[in-house]
Amino acid sequence: MTYTPTVGFISLGCPKALVDSERILTQLRTDGYTISPTYQNADLVVVNTCGFIDAAVAESLDSIGEALAENGRVIVTGCLGAREDEIRARHPQVLKVTGAHAIDEVVASVREHLPPRHDPFTSLLPPQGVKLTPSHYAYLKISEGCNHRCTFCIIPSMRGDLVSRPVDDVLVEAERLAQAGVKELLVVSQDTSAYGLDVKYQPRDWRGRSVQTRFYDLAEALGDLGIWVRMHYVYPYPHVDDVIPLMAAGKILPYLDIPFQHANPRILKLMKRPAASQNNLERIKAWRSVCPDITLRSTFIVGFPGETEQDFTELLDFLSEAQLDRVGCFAYSPVRGAAANDLPDAVPEALKQERLARFMAHQEAISAQRLQQRVGRIETVLVDEVVEEGAVARSRADAPDIDGQVFIDGATHLKVGDFVQVELEEADEHDMWGHLV
Ligand code: SF4
Repeated sequence: MTYTPTVGFISLGCPKALVDSERILTQLRTDGYTISPTYQNADLVVVNTCGFIDAAVAESLDSIGEALAENGRVIVTGCLGAREDEIRARHPQVLKVTGAHAIDEVVASVREHLPPRHDPFTSLLPPQGVKLTPSHYAYLKISEGCNHRCTFCIIPSMRGDLVSRPVDDVLVEAERLAQAGVKELLVVSQDTSAYGLDVKYQPRDWRGRSVQTRFYDLAEALGDLGIWVRMHYVYPYPHVDDVIPLMAAGKILPYLDIPFQHANPRILKLMKRPAASQNNLERIKAWRSVCPDITLRSTFIVGFPGETEQDFTELLDFLSEAQLDRVGCFAYSPVRGAAANDLPDAVPEALKQERLARFMAHQEAISAQRLQQRVGRIETVLVDEVVEEGAVARSRADAPDIDGQVFIDGATHLKVGDFVQVELEEADEHDMWGHLV
């Protein structure tokens, strides 16, 4: 058997980092490298790190240490790469450190330390590239970086300002994925609704027509692919309203992942949130009147510096009014380098945790009630997994990993990637159960 240079890969962090990993792996496969799932079979290991919160930094540093101990030759990339000094202080023997989104730099470094051996048979590559997600869904990254400067976030300092991919480039990738059998595209970026702002919404040709590099145009064109399209990280700018009719018409999924982070205007201002002055309750009401089935997912931070008991109560009132479907919440964590750390009136840790628990209990009741309202309905679900007891699927209201699941007992004949109709018969605060119809 001929030898092919082999690279091990560890991918940590968010879906945006996952997309970077897929691009690096696709390029490495094109260059003739084999990818190994074990340290022992690899000639060197690439670790794609995350630096978002302290726990992620610790996990990334530990993973680098493990790769060094098990393999010895390690290239580091990803968000934590912006803090090279810190990485080298703990692991001086790493071969190379790059920042996030440095696909070419990582590939060049692999080539330098492990020269490729081109072989047309081993470098045959599926046209959709290498995907790390199961083959029936895929993340579609439309831009990199962010023009905002939310005071709790260090992403712009690690990933830079917004750089949008040309819309035709994105659509070609989406089309290839659909042709390869992908049933659901998850559109990701740091700020999906700002897509195209940096290139002045430049028009591009696609399928013989002109499409602008713009959130609405992208959503509309993706809606023509005939598969599920789910929008993540959308901020509540007024132009988001225009996309809701596409959801009502069934072109894209009636689902918005829209991180509100807080409801109190003073806290939102301290956070320097985009669209902080919008009246979000009014917007939500308007969206539901256009698309009654819309699922709204959001994330919040409690215990932000300066948050009073009254601000927090206002947040709980917002939850009661907004009736969001899915909600994630974090206690404020002072990430090193974040501007919010210099704000006065830090909330004591115990109080943050107490507010987090109150917040979760409050929302749990709302989420449970929202799911309960769907019991008795017939809905289309996408099968993610078939296990001994039956099929595990997701409805239009559930994004993979972060939302709930729909369990179909006994349906072991189904296949991953099947769309089927189920009657929903039971729900808790997170998941649902149903039978095939
Ligand atoms: S919008 Fe704010 S939280 Fe999101 S990436 Fe940009 S700066 Fe960070």
